[in-house]
Amino acid sequence: MNDLINGLLTYGLNKNIITDLNQAKQNLITLFEISDFEYQHIDNDIFRVLDSLLDIAYNKKLFNPNTSMERDQFEALIFDKIMPSPNETKATFKHLFNSDENQAIKYLYNLSIDVNYIKSKRTSQNLKWVYQSSYGKLELTINLSKPEKDPKDIAKALEIKNQVNGDSPQCVLCKENEHRYENARMNLRIVPMTLFNQKWHFQYSPYAYFNEHAIILSDEHRDMKLSCDTFEYLLDFVDLVPNYFIGSNADLSIVGGSILNHDHFQAGNYKFPVEDSKTLKTYENIKNISIEHLNWPLSTIKLISMDRLILSDFACHLLKSWKIYSNPKLEIIAKTDKIHQTITPILRKENGIYALYLILRNNRTNKAYPDGIFHPHPEVHHIKKENIGLIEAMGLAILPGRLKTELIQGYAYIKDNIYHKDLDKHKDWLDALKRSNQVHSIEDLYQEVGKKFEEVLNHSGVFKLDNQGKQAMDQFILNTINTYKKM
Ligand SMILES: [Zn+2]
Repeated sequence: MNDLINGLLTYGLNKNIITDLNQAKQNLITLFEISDFEYQHIDNDIFRVLDSLLDIAYNKKLFNPNTSMERDQFEALIFDKIMPSPNETKATFKHLFNSDENQAIKYLYNLSIDVNYIKSKRTSQNLKWVYQSSYGKLELTINLSKPEKDPKDIAKALEIKNQVNGDSPQCVLCKENEHRYENARMNLRIVPMTLFNQKWHFQYSPYAYFNEHAIILSDEHRDMKLSCDTFEYLLDFVDLVPNYFIGSNADLSIVGGSILNHDHFQAGNYKFPVEDSKTLKTYENIKNISIEHLNWPLSTIKLISMDRLILSDFACHLLKSWKIYSNPKLEIIAKTDKIHQTITPILRKENGIYALYLILRNNRTNKAYPDGIFHPHPEVHHIKKENIGLIEAMGLAILPGRLKTELIQGYAYIKDNIYHKDLDKHKDWLDALKRSNQVHSIEDLYQEVGKKFEEVLNHSGVFKLDNQGKQAMDQFILNTINTYKKM
């Protein structure tokens, strides 16, 4: 036991997360209900140390049941006993930020990795591949890092819900989640950030979908809202943290992300496929803003400028123009009894130049497409039926974990005609692939999934890239420019 605790303390010292060794040791003695011992330097694999410590804790009835969710929660508590407190972390971040913002960001990122808040070992097991589409490369990943909920966890969650708990956060994004035992947040550290004179908080995502995947959440629990102010928040962020892109999910169901009830953005140190897409048409410069229509399946306008005032002013005008634009021939209808139009914006700043990507969205449904007209259509639902949010709109598919096994089974069916009942939803697709005789390895099958993802993105575009769609989008951009000039 003492060797394990010493292994943990040695790790904490090596990673510089322990500031007071004696205090850290005392905290662990209390947590594990053991007697005092002498610290010794013991280098050991941290994941093995943690695993053994969790087994001991379970046997001592320090947590229950022994599910991966409960183990994650207790592991977060163990790290909390040796790492800087939320207030210490905020103070260090602020101190570093005053002299070098990149160093401050790096500090929070490394801390989140070292205390296993970011589940880097699990995310490294995700499957990832690239598909060369007609728009350039698309990226796909099957996310295996989010643990599936055990029925025992669900039963326990119900039990807790029935107890009165006054100060519970209203959702998983609320700042009140920091340093909470539920959802394994004892080792979560967040830092405040002022954007456009408003209080926000910056933290990392535990199940990173891309490098240094960060979340910026509003101080207050309030609905996602995409407005002209959004551009100011995004611009302030890239002025503060110039190495990161930032983007916002749209604020309507179907075209937005999975969380619409807490205003937030996503950011990170990653370049997405949309940024490599080619330009279909460049428009005349308006007050030093270059305007481009991109060759991208989702209708995307790229604005490039060094002048943030003009950029946000024009983006605001474009958002307003889009909100009232209708073209019934293309099924684009701005408003019925509800508002249907919004934008997915992405911003990057490089060498003082801003590149703002505005992806036009519409969430209307009709009889033929009750899940959404500009949403994956039924024929691709066996691969993807969830919302096409910010990350996917930029060209990175996050596919459900079930696909890992289903693709292995699917390949066995193509190759050796071994049929598994889980393949029912894929049967037509697999039969067509069988007949085509194009799939000779599991990698070939992954490429076929890439093809499906390209279709998913085609379905999500409001202006299709055929002549009619391109002309209509061209007209929309020209009108927007002309009305801006008259202002
Ligand atoms: Zn919330």
